[in-house]
Amino acid sequence: AHASGIDYVAALNTEQYAAVSSPPGKALVIAGAGSGKTRTLTYRVAWLLDHGVESRQILLLTFTNKASREMIERVRELVPQDISDLWAGTFHSIGNRILRRHAEDLGFTRSFSILDRDDQKSLLSAVVASCEIDTKQRRFPKPDVLASIFSLIENTGATLEQVVAGRYAYFYDWIDEIAKVKEGYAAKKQATNSMDFDDLLGQTVRLFEEQPEVLALYQKRFRHLLVDEYQDTNSVQGRMIFLLTGGSNSLMAVGDDAQSIYSWRGADMDHILSFPTTWPGSKVFKIETNYRSVPEILDLSNAAIRANTAGFEKDLRSSRQGTGIKPALVAVEDPNTQAAFVAQRILELRDEGIELEEMAVLYRAHFQSLEVQMELTRRGIPFGITSGLRFFEQAHIKDVAAFLRFVTNRKDEVSFKRMTMLLPGIGPGAAEKLWQSWLNSGFIDNPQPPPKWSDLFLQFKAPKKSAKHWEQLCYTLDELSPDGEFVAPSQMIFSVLEGVYDDYIKENFDNYDNRRSDIEQLSQYGGNFTDIEEFLAQLSLMSAVDGEPTGDRSANDDEKVTLSSIHQAKGLEWKAVFLIWLADGQFPNGRILDSDDQAALEEERRLFYVALTRAKDDLYLSYPMMNPKSYTGDIITRPSRFLEDFPAEMVEEWKVGMDRGWNDDEPF
Ligand code: ATP
Ligand code: MG
Repeated sequence: AHASGIDYVAALNTEQYAAVSSPPGKALVIAGAGSGKTRTLTYRVAWLLDHGVESRQILLLTFTNKASREMIERVRELVPQDISDLWAGTFHSIGNRILRRHAEDLGFTRSFSILDRDDQKSLLSAVVASCEIDTKQRRFPKPDVLASIFSLIENTGATLEQVVAGRYAYFYDWIDEIAKVKEGYAAKKQATNSMDFDDLLGQTVRLFEEQPEVLALYQKRFRHLLVDEYQDTNSVQGRMIFLLTGGSNSLMAVGDDAQSIYSWRGADMDHILSFPTTWPGSKVFKIETNYRSVPEILDLSNAAIRANTAGFEKDLRSSRQGTGIKPALVAVEDPNTQAAFVAQRILELRDEGIELEEMAVLYRAHFQSLEVQMELTRRGIPFGITSGLRFFEQAHIKDVAAFLRFVTNRKDEVSFKRMTMLLPGIGPGAAEKLWQSWLNSGFIDNPQPPPKWSDLFLQFKAPKKSAKHWEQLCYTLDELSPDGEFVAPSQMIFSVLEGVYDDYIKENFDNYDNRRSDIEQLSQYGGNFTDIEEFLAQLSLMSAVDGEPTGDRSANDDEKVTLSSIHQAKGLEWKAVFLIWLADGQFPNGRILDSDDQAALEEERRLFYVALTRAKDDLYLSYPMMNPKSYTGDIITRPSRFLEDFPAEMVEEWKVGMDRGWNDDEPF
């Protein structure tokens, strides 16, 4: 018997057991949706621990932070030992963790800031300005575009030349200037001690490649790498895995090529398809049973993906009994009718005993959820959103964080300017002058403890009409690190709010109450941390890398429906799933239809497959017949072409809101 007492044979099927109990080595588990890949990986961790592997020797890489938390929690339930030194997280969070330890080796300090997209854009504008490019005559790429170009280079391993020629041919004449900006941007990041998200991966790889002794440290530690959602790794992540796995370390990757949906972010399906050649002698395991969905849903999913050409052969059998209830194909009159239908059906399912947290409404793009959001709100049905603007991405949250970031990283120019420009009368020019005064003060390289900020800052020349506010800001900063020690993160947030920020939002916004309560919530969240650097790193990681369901206001309320983009729903499951807006041009996306790009269309179809396979028992596919607000003027819509791949006998067709209500008691 094992220390954990787990009966692996009972908990797993033969195929899963073969993978879980396989000897150390390189292994790929490739299997369709809902076949227990994630479960296999979780049990593999337990198996390793049961067979003498120490928890510190395991590295578990997942696609979202949430997935990693859930897997760790599951392992905790399974095994008796303490696993707190097992490393688990997204590639970005693991990169961050490694870089914090070795930042000095790369010319950064361990308190480097993490730039989000907005920060990146403001740094890039500054760099473009300093390059003195004559942009009057021809359009030069905007910071946003530049950021995307640089990001693609990092994530795909392609050259600047390739990326610009391929996806941004319009700007090809600017290639030399773009190269110059790219260099300037890298220098600027170094000078301001900051990294963007891509650097969390790119710099980690650089660290490993340039400093073999550092790599050796981690290779020696992580004897077992486990990777979930392997089909969505990009080339830099692939490189990270390759380096860490070097030599005799074992690697178990699980994935499903049919669910590869992140090529737009540089993920490359070929990684999973070429696993056997990357790792000669590796084992490939397949699982052919689906445990998630009833056969009625599974058959439909198989029919949907069959139209694609690329990929491993897979045909999933359901382990579940048929219910005789077919997925519903629901024609609704327009988006409002669709929302009414979804809300109504949710209430009925709840009456049938299905909890709200077992239901999800999925869509291709965030904006498609608006009517449903409004309808659910109107009917008092609680919901949480995992797509769209998330809590930590909101401007007011980032404003407050800027104060904290600056005091912990004095080279953080972006945060400094963001903070000062909140004051009335301080624009970019004045902010730049203040930044120069700070640079000239000689304090910037001064190690801990921080000075009393006000002693120094009050000597700087702030514009006359901001003098009072500038003073307030200085004293606020003092409160963040009295006697050279940082106070707790939640206290810092509160000090910023009371010192400066409350006045700012009161004077500038009409939704003062919302903003104030968001910041109070942030302060509350800060209560989970004692270390300010850890808190700030977490903030950055939560806001843009992956979809944390933190966007909703009622985070502590479990009893709610999930609204999610399909991308964010990857790996998850619900009893009942509504997939809305299945109209051509909405899903598949209109731009892709216009471009006639077959590879892109196949990716859309994989996305469709991901959506269908989230459902366990009930599936509703709806399409509005009219779109009165269509900006193209095409009011009559066409059902999604993906629906044409369904044999008629596999679905039940419903019509809602055409002549009379679909439900007689509740007319729409
Ligand atoms: P996806 O491709 O969507 O990520 P997956 O292959 O990772 O799916 P899991 O999420 O691990 O699949 O499993 C799907 C569901 O099936 C889960 O509820 C899981 O607990 C259940 N399941 C998997 N294998 C078994 C098994 N052998 N016995 C009972 N339930 C199982
Ligand atoms: Mg999974």
